[in-house]
Amino acid sequence: MESYSIYFMTEDDGIGINLQPINEKTFNVYLELLTCFGDIEDNVIKISSEQQATDELKSRVAGFVEKYADNHPILNRLKRKIVNLSSSEYFLVLESVVVETSERLKLETYISTLNNIENITDLQSKFEEKMNALDNFSGDLLSKYNLIIPRNDRKTTVGNAKKENRCCRFCNKTMRDGVTFKKVAHAIPEGLGNKNIILGDECDNCNEFFGNNIEPALIEHLDIYRVFLGIKGKNGVPKIKYKNGHMQYENNMSIVVSQGFKRVSDKEFTINLESTKSLTPAKLYKALCKITLSTIDEKHMVDLKQTVKWLTCVDTPQLRLPRVAANVVHNGFSKVPQIVNYIRKIDDFGIPHIVSEFRIGSFVYVYIIPFSEKDTVDFIADEEYEKFWDTFKHYRSINDWRFDCLDSIKEMSINENIRLVQNGQP
Ligand SMILES: [Zn+2]
Repeated sequence: MESYSIYFMTEDDGIGINLQPINEKTFNVYLELLTCFGDIEDNVIKISSEQQATDELKSRVAGFVEKYADNHPILNRLKRKIVNLSSSEYFLVLESVVVETSERLKLETYISTLNNIENITDLQSKFEEKMNALDNFSGDLLSKYNLIIPRNDRKTTVGNAKKENRCCRFCNKTMRDGVTFKKVAHAIPEGLGNKNIILGDECDNCNEFFGNNIEPALIEHLDIYRVFLGIKGKNGVPKIKYKNGHMQYENNMSIVVSQGFKRVSDKEFTINLESTKSLTPAKLYKALCKITLSTIDEKHMVDLKQTVKWLTCVDTPQLRLPRVAANVVHNGFSKVPQIVNYIRKIDDFGIPHIVSEFRIGSFVYVYIIPFSEKDTVDFIADEEYEKFWDTFKHYRSINDWRFDCLDSIKEMSINENIRLVQNGQP
């Protein structure tokens, strides 16, 4: 046995326990831990992976942890996890953490079915029903990609939580090289309402560079949206000045004042707003990719050296980039920004190595991370892009995508046109 590890998967979370060093002492602790969840029969421990957090089990785990927590502080987390489960809530005990997305989704679906059915005889049919729904949603995508979705509903730190172990994933420097990690690096810009997803491995220099040069492109591009949703950034809810008016969010209402207000009919108005800011399309693309590179596992960075070079270069020449798909969809509305990363796990070079979906409110971007060393084509030609888009059936099945070319490194002035249509009968 390589190490004494065990993984607990609960309906909304999981915790892995690794006992070290590998010796007889830790082996005995491990055995005792296992017996909390099973019985010894004929010198063989029999554990069912399906467990229920009964009062008896909770007190058994608490007693065990009390005994060994001094030498293995991680056990305190296990105790908190198990004791805080609802009474008789189901969870799974597994040998190790499940990394395969399709396998993990299956297990998560299984636990949530277990915990939410009224009659245990319905388990199989309800489970199959949910799995079918999942299959229809994602097709065979999950056999090709692993999904990484950092949680945005609580503090989530990507990369090293401990400062002394940090190595900046963008400039590869550590504290020994003289860089500092004093600032909190938001993996998704704070200006878009992200308070929870933090990147550990980003030094203060890189943080400042992205904050000054790259991120404003995305934040300002979403200005109107931020006001409509009342998204709080660093300085509260934004108030945005335009050459011909302004927009602000007040008392749960968005207020638009503009000289470019036009009545089309009794039920339709258009508002034109001329921005005082300008937009560089390639920076918008970079800002999206920066979010992806801040929310994936550090091990993928080795294939993204060219991407990082492009991201961190101030005066990149104009390069050809894949198009960025954008849409407004009305399911799964989330006021907090959310990132979904797809990392290819098979050697099919006809589909991109990394694809991300960035969503805020009902606004969605789907984009390819360019310049990965695990890609052999650049997805710029139509037929290459179409093959990629065909693989992501759950996006393709939605209408009205816009495919933007964000190659340009020239500043453009922003002109927003808002169309307001009154719905239904007056
Ligand atoms: Zn750095």
